[in-house]
Amino acid sequence: MSNRSQQRIGLFGGTFDPIHFGHLRPAVELVEHFQLDHLRLLPNHRPAHRDKPSASTAQRIHMLNLATEAMAQLIVDSREAERDKPSYTYDTLSEFRDDYPQASLIFFMGLDAFSGFDRWYRWEGILELANLVVVDRPDATLSAWSANLLATQSEKLGNSVINVSAGAIERCSVTQLAISATDIRHRIAAGKSIEFLVPERVNRYIVQQALYR
Ligand code: ATP
Repeated sequence: MSNRSQQRIGLFGGTFDPIHFGHLRPAVELVEHFQLDHLRLLPNHRPAHRDKPSASTAQRIHMLNLATEAMAQLIVDSREAERDKPSYTYDTLSEFRDDYPQASLIFFMGLDAFSGFDRWYRWEGILELANLVVVDRPDATLSAWSANLLATQSEKLGNSVINVSAGAIERCSVTQLAISATDIRHRIAAGKSIEFLVPERVNRYIVQQALYR
């Protein structure tokens, strides 16, 4: 735990269907780089019937727990997944702001997600609640709208999220692994191996539960 007076909390949302090393390696590097007190992985809500074959909410959460067990700073936060309707990031961040009024909140997203940020519910409100860190992802490019937003916020607040309470946007380069959950599901459906794409314990669980076949 740091001796800073202000807590620094990272939030990383996704479907995590399943969690893979493309999420985990960046997560570890982000904890270290931003000296986070902790990074919360927030699996999102997904209607039970959508996009089969996929894992249930309980299975996605279980895999996240298996994957993060060895690293105390990675916390699985299932508040969105367990709600009976989809929740907007804006609402979730408002909740965090109420829970941690003084903390620096950093919301992480991959470059692919940031490129569609203009379509997010109340994106301007999101920037009033938290800072954003955009993580590079292989093959993803920055949309013109997002590049423009990045430039505007940098002009106002600089290009570091450190010591800014909300609204700053920073790009961060991490070890890039061209792994996607979609590709993992396709491999399993095709009877192929997913060895070394997910943690061993997650792989064993997928086999045991006969997921994604
Ligand atoms: P899917 O293929 O099912 O869309 P995904 O692998 O993209 O899944 P998500 O759960 O949708 O995983 O991603 C959650 C977050 O992690 C998003 O912000 C996404 O941009 C980011 N992310 C996912 N995979 C990577 C990767 N390989 N490198 C960097 N960021 C990633």
